Amino acid sequence: MPPSIPENLEKVRLRITQFEQKYGRPEGDVGLIAVSKTHGPEKVREAWNAGQKAFGENYLQEALAKQEALADLDINWHFIGPIQSNKTRAIAERFHWVHSVDRLKIARRLDEQRPASLPALNILLQVNISDESSKSGVGIDALAELAEAIALLPRLVLTGLMAIPAPTDDVGAQRAAFHRLRAARDTLLASGHERCKHLSMGMSHDYEAAIAEGATMIRIGTDIFGPRN
Ligand SMILES: *Cc1c(COP(=O)(O)O)cnc(C)c1O
Repeated sequence: MPPSIPENLEKVRLRITQFEQKYGRPEGDVGLIAVSKTHGPEKVREAWNAGQKAFGENYLQEALAKQEALADLDINWHFIGPIQSNKTRAIAERFHWVHSVDRLKIARRLDEQRPASLPALNILLQVNISDESSKSGVGIDALAELAEAIALLPRLVLTGLMAIPAPTDDVGAQRAAFHRLRAARDTLLASGHERCKHLSMGMSHDYEAAIAEGATMIRIGTDIFGPRN
């Protein structure tokens, strides 16, 4: 039998604590987002029963169905996938955090569509920190201007930056990429975006490097739920 979801969660939590100590991070500084894409609501419920409260989803239709099936649970939902502009309303209505904002048009729509009955939406800007020409993420050189424009939108709070670096087994390269995101975050903080403190970085294969470089939210799927089909 493969290890159960509660066993996997326990193992990931233990490693997070070990890495916090190893890299001089305050205890409890690194938040864990369980990435449940492609896994059914019963698996999310199993993780929730084992104490996991934050979940990340990439695909809107799948996420909405899961939210419906799990409406009795108090879950913190994070949207982490690519955002098409015709999907912003449901994201603005149904999520607590959005990690994958990379252009002003999407930010404006989320701002307009965030219901007045809910608190302002927490957003992170997805940044392209890899050298290859990736399609998603704002470039480092365009980041300050985007952040300035978003700071004017009243129904959004710019809470940090997110990145998905090009996959590599080279820990030095992993750290260098995460370091670039951290430097970009520090620049925004220093220029007055005082709530822009989060770094959403690190997945199953590279979260040690991410924690070493200051991640405050790691997004873990495979190590919690097993391989995806
Ligand atoms: C799928 C996904 C993850 C989780 O990846 P694992 O390698 O399974 O841990 C994290 N972040 C994003 C944006 C993803 O799409």
